[in-house]
Amino acid sequence: MDLKDNVLKKLNTTNLFSVTYRKDKFALSDKEYPIGYTSYLVMDTDSRFIDENIFEDLRIFTEELLNKDFNRTDFLDYHSKIISAIDVLSQYEVFKIFDIKKCKEEINKLFAEEKIKLYEEYNRFKKNEYRIKISEKLDELIKASVDLETAFSIGFCISSAVKEVEYYSSVVFQITNKIVKNNARTKTELAEAFSDFINDPYMNFIFEVNSHPFGTRATIIPVVESENGTSKIYRKVYYNNLKDFLMTDLFEGYIHGHYLWRCDICDRYFFMTTARNQLYCSTVNKKYGVPCSYIAKHPEVTKRKMKKQRKSDSPYYVLWKNRYDSIRKNKSLGKYSANVSAKAKELIDYYFNLANVDFDYAEKQYEKDMELSKIYEEAMKD
Ligand SMILES: [Zn+2]
Repeated sequence: MDLKDNVLKKLNTTNLFSVTYRKDKFALSDKEYPIGYTSYLVMDTDSRFIDENIFEDLRIFTEELLNKDFNRTDFLDYHSKIISAIDVLSQYEVFKIFDIKKCKEEINKLFAEEKIKLYEEYNRFKKNEYRIKISEKLDELIKASVDLETAFSIGFCISSAVKEVEYYSSVVFQITNKIVKNNARTKTELAEAFSDFINDPYMNFIFEVNSHPFGTRATIIPVVESENGTSKIYRKVYYNNLKDFLMTDLFEGYIHGHYLWRCDICDRYFFMTTARNQLYCSTVNKKYGVPCSYIAKHPEVTKRKMKKQRKSDSPYYVLWKNRYDSIRKNKSLGKYSANVSAKAKELIDYYFNLANVDFDYAEKQYEKDMELSKIYEEAMKD
């Protein structure tokens, strides 16, 4: 088999990355996300319309190189094209879940000077220009040939990843439209909207639903993790490509009742992990300086230009500041670990933000939730 065949074969068989699934979350590169969150990431920075030129160039260039002899200048050029392509991709939220820095480091290793020398030797050896005593250097050259295949698979891998993300975000966009149109908010309604999508003849035509885009291939390995003396078995899943992971994430997200909803005020998408009927997003609306959910309850906001609200302008700030100071003090006294303190801070931020958008909550529950002992109790769970 020649180099090109080996490279193409590699694309379908190499485990590119692994994801660990824990309850309703997935972990990738040491970070955890709610299952289904990739759907939000592709909608947030609209990934349906990534400019494909640079990636298509890379694919064509990779093909060209595979059809001719190994050449140092071309190979270095290929390396820099890969790095530029990765730099463009890393601006998209969905690619940020990967450890881009580590990824580049791994790639750079394949293009190191000592590797290139070996690739050159291997090329001469292949053309019978270079004779070696079998046992002497063969192992090293075989290893170099495998590295070279890996290096060439990267170009294809990147260009197909871009196409896969575009395809995925179009799928997400269309299913979300169904969900919003059907007003589907419960798990049952989500399932019905999902089924509507799969059985829609037009969607079938666009996305070739008949060829099972949700059918994915992966290698699943059980892993045991222990925390606080309790052991649990989780699924660690190895994927050969991005699409299999994304599709799995979307449909497993729906199983957990995680879905996207479109904010009626700013038209942006937000991610729901509860079956609650939230209609408006909680992110700050740039035009009015307050979250959309606040605007919904206070329509007068949109009628007059509001000054951008500072955190300290909030009526709930004093209590938050008070708790924040206590958490910092307790941390410096060593009463609570850095981890617990960080979680406690996260909690007070969460309650504070909630109070700012939900007046019923602010009046009835905010002070109770902000009790320091309860905060720590919550922060020390799990
Ligand atoms: Zn909004």
